[in-house]
Amino acid sequence: MTPPSETLRAPLVVEFPFTRSLGPVQSAFLTGLREQTVLGVRTETGEVLVPPVEYDPATAAELRDLVEVGATGTVTTWAWNPGPRPGQPLATPFAWVLVRLDGADTALLHALDAPGPEAVRTGMRVRIRWAAERSGAITDIACFEPYDSDPVAEPGSHDGRFADPVTGIVAAARLDYTYSPGRAQTRYLHALTERRTVGERCPSCTKVYVPPRGACPTCGVATTHQVEVGPRGTVTTYCIVNIKAKNLDIEVPYVYAHIALDGAGLALHGRIGGIPYDQVRMGLRVEPVWSEDGRYPDHYRPTGEPDADYDTYKELL
Ligand SMILES: [Zn+2]
Repeated sequence: MTPPSETLRAPLVVEFPFTRSLGPVQSAFLTGLREQTVLGVRTETGEVLVPPVEYDPATAAELRDLVEVGATGTVTTWAWNPGPRPGQPLATPFAWVLVRLDGADTALLHALDAPGPEAVRTGMRVRIRWAAERSGAITDIACFEPYDSDPVAEPGSHDGRFADPVTGIVAAARLDYTYSPGRAQTRYLHALTERRTVGERCPSCTKVYVPPRGACPTCGVATTHQVEVGPRGTVTTYCIVNIKAKNLDIEVPYVYAHIALDGAGLALHGRIGGIPYDQVRMGLRVEPVWSEDGRYPDHYRPTGEPDADYDTYKELL
């Protein structure tokens, strides 16, 4: 086992598909990209915004006056990305650039394919490199590439109509990160592997935090004094879950509860099992049922004791 002095680390991924409808302006913009046409929108003062928005960011006026801008433009600022991550526009090092397309007054964020940072400068001329296969997404612009040309000044009007318009997109949101719970939660997690629940007491207000955070959020002082709590506890509040979560093999409905372990100064969350969902109640006395690998409480079940008196847990709600 890792010595308790060593903080734990674990790779975590948060990932979900985000589905959204586009509305008239974004629909025209993305459908246009599919057709190798970049559309902006003109505001009441004559400014051309690319990418276009439905409402004027300054006045909130509704905007519908679509215009076609150039596929060439000027870099207004940039940052070199030496280590592209999965899902970024290019697999090789590239520059993130803001490009003001010819005819536009605002800049679009995208990638610039350049051999190195010495090849990139503010004011350089670039053009769109279109993706070979386009579906009506910002990735229909594969990237920008250096291109020597004079700016084309005037945007042309466009009715924004295309056959078979794109009306919605699914954007894959994903965040990869390394999580370190810190010293206090590392001690807590190590104790769990011995089926002990260890909180930490605030030296100032004497509240026992479970799981411990290393400091009292109220007093702002470090908590180092460890206190074993539980294993039994009391349901303080709860909710009935009716939606089955993906990848979670639990039949609905089930109860998710706030449980104040005996000796703890606040409640933690846990699932309640071993009792019909509609018989769970405030004050129910519960105990942990450990996961198969013995590393955490899988859920809590009734102990059979009489319910706790409301006065014993009302401060923990
Ligand atoms: Zn405190």
